[in-house]
Amino acid sequence: MKRKQTRGNAGSAKGKATKREQQAALEPNAPFQKNEEVTVDLIGLTHDGEGVGRAGGFTLFVQGGLPGETARVRVMKLKKQYGYARLEELVQSSPDRLQPPCDIFKECGGCQLQHLDYAAQLAWKRQSVVDNLKRIGKLQVAGEDGHADAGIVVHDTVGMEEPWRYRNKAAVPVGAGDEGKLIAGFYARGSHRIIDMNDCLIQHERNDEVVRVVKRIARELRIQPYNEETGQGVLRHVMTRTGVESGEVMVVLVTNGGRLPRQPEWIEQLRAQIPGLKSIVQNVNSQATNAIFGDETRVLWGSEVIYDELDGIRFAISARSFYQVNPAQTVTLYRKAVEYAALTGKERVIDAYCGIGTISLFLARQAGHVYGVEIVPEAIADARRNAELNGIANATFEAGPAEVVMPRWRKEGIEADVIVVDPPRKGCDPALLDTILALRPERVVYVSCNPSTLARDLRVLEDGGYKTVEVTPVDMFPHTVHVECVVWMVSKD
Ligand code: SAH
Repeated sequence: MKRKQTRGNAGSAKGKATKREQQAALEPNAPFQKNEEVTVDLIGLTHDGEGVGRAGGFTLFVQGGLPGETARVRVMKLKKQYGYARLEELVQSSPDRLQPPCDIFKECGGCQLQHLDYAAQLAWKRQSVVDNLKRIGKLQVAGEDGHADAGIVVHDTVGMEEPWRYRNKAAVPVGAGDEGKLIAGFYARGSHRIIDMNDCLIQHERNDEVVRVVKRIARELRIQPYNEETGQGVLRHVMTRTGVESGEVMVVLVTNGGRLPRQPEWIEQLRAQIPGLKSIVQNVNSQATNAIFGDETRVLWGSEVIYDELDGIRFAISARSFYQVNPAQTVTLYRKAVEYAALTGKERVIDAYCGIGTISLFLARQAGHVYGVEIVPEAIADARRNAELNGIANATFEAGPAEVVMPRWRKEGIEADVIVVDPPRKGCDPALLDTILALRPERVVYVSCNPSTLARDLRVLEDGGYKTVEVTPVDMFPHTVHVECVVWMVSKD
């Protein structure tokens, strides 16, 4: 193996003279050199789940390290203020450390926290919400910094009793393994190298079974796996979703180009081998892109949707719709959102970023009227169908960007007593926050999958006259670093 020896960065500025500042920026302040072995104390976890180590006043990120541990590590990469090191040996291990139950935990990028006891995962997720509220939101949290009572109440993270096999959806890349054999599994951590996988401990068993069946059929029918480098081959991804409550299954084959060779055999064999199969869909993605789906979707057999149920409400879900992946915890999350909305039957409620109308319909059962808005037109078609399916007449939906549709509603005289938002990771659009402040609902319920953009947006709403009362983190994604929470805000007026 070739090993590059660097002594600090001295001598790296070969050839053309670099500007002094640039050079200073490259000069690590580390008290050690690349490839050196050092002992570090691990004091935290980054939002990616890497251990944060301190040695000689310098920060080293250590994949696999846990807070409270002392480890011998090898320095792999140095920047000016921090570096990356490889865990060599634990000198002192954490009482919260576990043997990860999954064999491929180290290689796979899917889970990041399997080596951490579940109760400790939940505590870490709560703390990460608290830290974001304080650092980014400049908000006061009860129980922190000597404020015993005053400030936002951040509850304990609501965890799962059985935090395994919870995912209702799998999307696995297909490629060629040794001797061109078709494989499907996961991308090795931080790369696009596909590793074959037959069993994923956070997937519903039905999803694992579907992936195994699809692989078997593809091999038998001699389907060419897609090759990312050359752009050749047919099968790119298998996506499968199962209604955990209903038992219904959808299989989506993502192909490079519109032709799926041996389509009749595919349909016959999938139907014969997958219990509960209701829908076979093909999606065409011919672009050299990291996106899983292309624009063209067609039903090869069966229904365009599968059905599932959450808390007694039925939902039709199509291939491209957003639908929460952990249904058990979704019910907990939505019930908490409804509780924070504090509805009495009269209220007008806006559900922004409503997807297929899931939260909207939970709210509609207790509200006067719910207005849902969502950017994906297909999702809005599903939302309307879902309202009808459940005989819910007091919910109306509109497709479009929330930050455009809501100001228009306001001009049309639509008022809101409560506004619920559930934006993607990047948080709310500033124009949408302005509209909330202009509509001045009594309560705002913010459902967030990203504590840092949440904290940023709460600051804007606080400055605009709202007070954050409570936050409940709900663990939607056990063993991963993802943190979801529901926030209750009230108008200060
Ligand atoms: N509340 C839903 C969906 C939440 S995911 C549920 O729990 O199932 C976030 C949703 O926001 C996605 O459906 C996405 O398509 C939608 N979205 C993204 N940007 C948007 C925008 N600018 N305006 C409206 N919806 C948007």
